[in-house]
Amino acid sequence: MGFSPHGSYQLWVVFTTKQKIMEEYIKQIDKKIVYNKKTIVLGIPFDDHSSFLKGASKGPKAIRKALNSPSANLSTESGYDLSLSDDWLDMGNIDDMNSSNNAFSIIENRFNEYLTQGARIVTLGGDNSITLPIIRAYGKIMGPLDIMQIDAHPDLYDELDGDRESHACPFSRIMEENLVERLVQVGIRTMNPHQKEQSDRFGTEVITMREWNSGLNFEFSDPVYLSIDMDCLDPGFAPGVSHYEPGGFTPRDVISMIQNIKGDIIGADIVELNPKRDHHGMTAFVGAKFLKEILDRMING
Ligand code: MN
Repeated sequence: MGFSPHGSYQLWVVFTTKQKIMEEYIKQIDKKIVYNKKTIVLGIPFDDHSSFLKGASKGPKAIRKALNSPSANLSTESGYDLSLSDDWLDMGNIDDMNSSNNAFSIIENRFNEYLTQGARIVTLGGDNSITLPIIRAYGKIMGPLDIMQIDAHPDLYDELDGDRESHACPFSRIMEENLVERLVQVGIRTMNPHQKEQSDRFGTEVITMREWNSGLNFEFSDPVYLSIDMDCLDPGFAPGVSHYEPGGFTPRDVISMIQNIKGDIIGADIVELNPKRDHHGMTAFVGAKFLKEILDRMING
């Protein structure tokens, strides 16, 4: 190439670009931004706060097994191939919780750690109680934010069977602690008078299954956290859950909502899969499908 003015200009561009990348990298290390918006998958095999049946702790394993099954590939419906992508990472499970006494603080601390390092997180549950410690971390670090919850149940009990951390209560605590701006609850078909009172008190936005139609648009101006309870689905499509509530969504309904939510999805959970009640992993495969479509949205917008 020699040292023609043109050639040295090119060299200078290459050098300064590399230098800039290196400076940016060092800056990130200084700030401990290790993940820099990378989306990570975390499992939480925890079902101590399930009120009716145990088994949701086996959810992360079942969803990963379906995701990695040789019966399917890792492409999303947009044609994005997750198997070729460096933008996400499965970090395994948070499984150092030896008692339910300290589980929530362990979960919250781990999320604090990952979020301050710039990660966006998709969690595989676990029962729905884990959404509380997750949102404690998200609310403090990523707030102000909104939640879109897709669920048969509002999970707004003040307490259930004397347990204020029950999987039937997380959204009451989230609202009492002012962790989010908006809570939009979609697919609800078990609203009783007590939870209706709680919903009115907290100002949650409820779209019951009865009111829902596929033409509804969900739009969020704050960053949005998506919480999907597998029992939002009709049990005919997804028998692998602890609480059967007929008259629910088809998998297609939920996939379309994931794809069409208007907003920046900064985190998500897929909870309440109970493999003990599943048939041939059919519910786990729906969970894995949701995971793929959520990853696509979180990575590609
Ligand atoms: Mn539910």
